[in-house]
Amino acid sequence: MKHLPSPQLFKLTTPIKLIKLIKLIKLIKLIYMISTVMLFITIPSIAHGWHTISTPSITDQQQTEIWGSYANGCIDGAITIPTTGLSYQQVRPSRNRHYGTPQMADFIAAIDRWALRENQILIFGDISQPRGGPANFGHASHQTGLDIDIWFEDRHEPLPPSLIEKLVTPSVVNPKTGTLNQHWCPFYRDLLFYSATDPRTERIFVNPVIKAALCHSEKDRSWLRKLRPWFGHDSHFHIRLHCPKESQGCIAQAPIPQGDGCDQDLQNWVNDQINWHLNPPKKSASTRAKVPKILPSECQVIKTE
Ligand SMILES: [Zn+2]
Repeated sequence: MKHLPSPQLFKLTTPIKLIKLIKLIKLIKLIYMISTVMLFITIPSIAHGWHTISTPSITDQQQTEIWGSYANGCIDGAITIPTTGLSYQQVRPSRNRHYGTPQMADFIAAIDRWALRENQILIFGDISQPRGGPANFGHASHQTGLDIDIWFEDRHEPLPPSLIEKLVTPSVVNPKTGTLNQHWCPFYRDLLFYSATDPRTERIFVNPVIKAALCHSEKDRSWLRKLRPWFGHDSHFHIRLHCPKESQGCIAQAPIPQGDGCDQDLQNWVNDQINWHLNPPKKSASTRAKVPKILPSECQVIKTE
């Protein structure tokens, strides 16, 4: 620290003043440390700035175009998807992440009609920012208007306005036992079945415990192939749509392996999660900065137009 008091000053102070001075120095040190850490965290987020763009780009071709991959891309001419539908509500709309492709708009319209018939209100999380790109918090993907989170909520009445920005939904998984808990309900199976059997969906991320439970309970397990195990995803699941055929710049993910995925690999995911929760690894104080990914050059044009 540069501004420690000189020894002279220590000599002149009484014991009480000295204690106050030490407390003050500790406080200054703490503020210095916090501000250093905050700078480290926020500079890369501010630098990319995609979250500060409030509107989609307007394309010359009147066609939505995707550039890049789900976790490193952007959207030209995204569609603004309403934050409420016939039978859905998006939570935390203040984040302004309700933009997608025409395929996403079609998928949402279809699942919305299905939810209405089922007398369910669906709760949506984030889709993408107006021009996609990396989010300043919360997701690595959701960058191309082809990802949407749907919450595990068994709801028959609309959310009161007071909860739209604040809703918190419990986990449906007991990670220590590797089993579903009391918050799981049969509707979630139907919601996942609907999502996985829609031809627009490419894969769906769920907690490994959810997939393992369905592997156990489903007679026809063929639809479980699209369900991919991932940590988290225990109070919401994540739907990913296919790259649109007409979007030449969209980079698809490696295909899902053949088979229903009800195998040892899935069990390893469950076991790893159990071990993680029973013996949490000590946090390592890594100070290595993440190397920012390079977006496709087309995204720089979309960002600034
Ligand atoms: Zn997601």
